[in-house]
Amino acid sequence: MNTGTSITDRLVQLRQQIERVCRDSNRLPEEVRLLAVSKTFPLSAVEEAMRAGQLNFGENYLQEALGKINRCPAATWHFIGAIQSNKTREIASHFDWVHSVPSLKIARRLSAQRDPALPPINLLVQVNITGETTKSGVTPDQLPGLLDQARELDNLRLRGLMTMPEPGRDPTPAFRTLRELRDSLSAQLSLDAFTELSMGMSHDFEHAIREGATWIRVGTGIFGARG
Ligand SMILES: *Cc1c(COP(=O)(O)O)cnc(C)c1O
Repeated sequence: MNTGTSITDRLVQLRQQIERVCRDSNRLPEEVRLLAVSKTFPLSAVEEAMRAGQLNFGENYLQEALGKINRCPAATWHFIGAIQSNKTREIASHFDWVHSVPSLKIARRLSAQRDPALPPINLLVQVNITGETTKSGVTPDQLPGLLDQARELDNLRLRGLMTMPEPGRDPTPAFRTLRELRDSLSAQLSLDAFTELSMGMSHDFEHAIREGATWIRVGTGIFGARG
């Protein structure tokens, strides 16, 4: 997919690819934001991406992330990994976005533990569209109740939905379902900032953009293979 040899080269190619898919699907490139998933890659990789103009970074593992965040406070940091209850305090203190909120309980903890002097956390709820038992996230039928209660929490802003399609299957139906859920829930509950769809990774982001992604989460496509 990428013939570039450096992070900078890959970012340039990726941005061109995003623009092309946007043009082909009648979307504006500025509607699609690129989240560089830097898990397992060193600080130097984040710094190179920042020099190439990348601002938003996603991390899955808290301890690993904290070191990079402390050294790169100018970046915007997104938590995208599994969230255990005993990690919410640090996540609430160090991240501006959380894409992988799996339950009302975790949303409540993030809200309670966020410093009210900071801007609210931008929160996306992870949706398990196909109901796979191995995957975290809420099922579509749990979403209205969860959002209706989470909207009352201080220190959070409900921004949208995230999903990871089942591996090995055509991802398009899951992406489309996520978009339909966002549209219907944001109307039904009158959520004013509920605009975001975090979907698509290195191998399927083109499909995700066609189905309306506003954040694509790309790791290997920018940083190369993980060891
Ligand atoms: C690792 C990861 C990504 C990036 O995957 P790539 O295949 O490297 O692009 C995206 N989203 C989540 C939740 C991840 O854990």
